[in-house]
This record gives sequence, C-alpha cells and structure tokens, in this order.
Amino acid sequence: MSFDLDKERSRLERKLEALRKKEFIPAPLLEIVARTAELQLEARGKVQVSLPDQIAPADAHAQGASLLPREQFPYDKAVTAETFGKLLALMAQSGGSMAEGATSLHKALEAREFSLEEACDALLQDDQLFFADWGARMPEAPSFVRYLVQGSLVPSLMAVSDLLAERRDTETVWSHGHCPHCGSMPLVASLRNKEGFRYLTCSLCRHEYRAKRLQCPFCGEEDHSKLEYFKAEGEAGFEVHVCRSCHCYLKVADFRELDRLSIPVLDDLESLALDILAREQGFVRPTQSAWGF
Ligand SMILES: [Zn+2]
Ligand SMILES: [Zn+2]
Repeated sequence: MSFDLDKERSRLERKLEALRKKEFIPAPLLEIVARTAELQLEARGKVQVSLPDQIAPADAHAQGASLLPREQFPYDKAVTAETFGKLLALMAQSGGSMAEGATSLHKALEAREFSLEEACDALLQDDQLFFADWGARMPEAPSFVRYLVQGSLVPSLMAVSDLLAERRDTETVWSHGHCPHCGSMPLVASLRNKEGFRYLTCSLCRHEYRAKRLQCPFCGEEDHSKLEYFKAEGEAGFEVHVCRSCHCYLKVADFRELDRLSIPVLDDLESLALDILAREQGFVRPTQSAWGF
C-alpha cells in the first residue's frame, strides 16, 4: 500500500470543507486542525522507516499479540523533529492558550528541560505520568505537549503501520480489541460494505482494522444485552456504541447511505457533540482524540 500524497491532500480538502460547515467547531480550532493535518501529510510523504527484523510470530499474533509492541515502533527522527518545529511555530502564531503553551515550551527547550527524544519515548511507552507532569507545568494548555509530540510522530507511526499491513491478512476479523499492529486502543470506528463490517481506527498508529461488530473493544464484552447504541438528532451518520459492563463508549461513523467522506481522526472531531451526550449519560471515553479532547 503506497502513500499517494496528492490523493490524500484532495481527500483532506474535501473533508475540511465539510467540517467548516459545522457551526459548533470554532474557526480558529479548525484552522489549527487543518494546518496540523496538512503538515502531517507533507511529513508522511518524506518519512523513511523500516521494520525491525523481529515481529510477532504468526501463532502469537493469532492469540492476540500485536505484530510490534508500540514501544518498539521505529520513527524517522529527522522528519519528526522537523514536524515538531513546524507544529510549535504554528501554535505560537495561533494565539490564545496554544500560543501560551508554545511560549512555555520554548522556554523549556532553551533551558534544556524538554527533550523531544525523551518525549517521543514516553509517548511510545504510553508513559501517562510524563505527560501528566507536563500538563501540570502548563495549566494553560494541559494537553499541549502530548498533542505536539503525538502530532509529530504520527507520520512515522502510520508509515510503520503500512509496512506491518503487508505482513498480515488485513481482511480477517480481529477479535482482541486492541490494535493488531501496535496493541493500542481504538479511537473511533466506522461501518463499511453492504453488510456493515465494523472497522476500528487505532489511536496510535491509525491502522484501520476489521473487528467484530458486536463486541466491546475495551473489555471484550459480547453479551448483546450489555451492548447498546444511540444516535443523536442532527448528527446523521454517527452512532455511539456503549458497553454496560465497562461503561465505555465508542463513536461509529456510518456514511454508507450518505455522500460523505470518512477520515477517522476528523470524523472524531465532526462528531464532538456525541461525546458530550455520551459523557452526560455517564459513559467514559478511554482514548483521547488526536485534537486533545
Ligand atoms: Zn496501532
Ligand atoms: Zn466494555
């Protein structure tokens, strides 16, 4: 599966056009999202990565082992550093709490208190404490450091995931919840084909994998009486799937009958109203959006 920059750019443009019509997304936020997504595509076209020699053997993978644990994902250091610099500059120009965050991080960089390499390792190791600590140091923009680090790494992680996709049968139904490539939890889902196959999008490497339609990806619950879903008025094309066992929810895009384009990380933003509804009902979202909510 080769990466086609021009095709991805025109898809992104079309999706952003749709998002601009959503009144509840503030224009300055959407501008940051648009520029971030553009920078990531540009970086994705430049990334050079190769897989390590060892990936999980077929039998371990069939039992649920991810092909490559997330902490072993290689990344292109030069492209990541360049993207990080560009994202930081973008934030500095954005005004508001993002610009304040950029100023704080600039100071930390100058004082050598912040190392990008260390931060990338922390993200790959899912070191929540590292980011909680930076969040506490920057109360004006608590998700800022995570957003920037993850945003800079994503092009490399997607490239690695594309290479991993060549090593497995991506049509098989994966029934282990977490991502078959890196082991992380899903971000959002979508329904595809006439039959409504359910695909989950990984919150880290963004791989889209086919999963069981009636199963909670977070706790594995398959008892139909514990799995429910709801829709919201004015939000055609989206469902919220909830699990009464672990009280988690997952948003699912179903654009099969609609002339709409799915880009999962942006579908997530487009359906922000459903997060509010799900939380009001006491359900929890286990993975943060790519945009910090
Ligand atoms: Zn993944
Ligand atoms: Zn569950």
